[in-house]
Amino acid sequence: MISGFIQLLEKRLGSSLDQDGREYMAFIIDAASRMKELINDLLAYSRVGTRAKPPEAVDLNTVMARVRETLTPLAEEQGGLISWDTLPTVRVEPVQIVQLLQNLVANALRYHRPEEPPRVHVSAAVRMGGGWTVSVADNGIGIEPRYFERIFMIFQRLHTREEYPGTGIGLAICRKIVERHGGRLRVESTPGRGSVFSFTLP
Ligand code: ADP
Repeated sequence: MISGFIQLLEKRLGSSLDQDGREYMAFIIDAASRMKELINDLLAYSRVGTRAKPPEAVDLNTVMARVRETLTPLAEEQGGLISWDTLPTVRVEPVQIVQLLQNLVANALRYHRPEEPPRVHVSAAVRMGGGWTVSVADNGIGIEPRYFERIFMIFQRLHTREEYPGTGIGLAICRKIVERHGGRLRVESTPGRGSVFSFTLP
């Protein structure tokens, strides 16, 4: 409603406003859209706990095909490629596993170095003692080791919105999903070379 009415007001008053007035309008419109984005992401975060369905057998190759389809516009915009090895079938909550891989792959595309188009590769390995480790590797900007834990906290970002847009909630959602499945999510990275986000599933 805030966005809608302020846009109506802008239409009505646009021509009679001075430079400052038009600037204030633009700030309000921008803030309202950001508020909407934050609320949506916070709702997604809180629903990881409340909207979960029981786990079922899910083929991760099918999940990746869907993730790639959803992220095609973003990948094309960045000239990026998304690939994966043959992946296992795992017992997980189907909606959450899509959300998890989609967040990780989207980040891998977004945090890329301007001089190189993003390459994202997903692989899986059997863990000693049972279960799987699934890894999402990119050739992007990378992360300094001192931020390896901080990035998983809600609202924690390493860049300004002007550099890379975002709310800082994506990885907190990812970690919550993985932990609800009894696994762990971590990152390994070489700044300037790329990052590997890997999660375990029992
Ligand atoms: P957002 O992307 O909205 O800022 P996230 O929780 O998804 O929120 O990520 C938190 C921060 O972690 C990002 O702001 C970015 O600095 C860093 N980050 C996440 N994924 C990557 C990646 N693949 N490569 C480099 N940095 C990343």
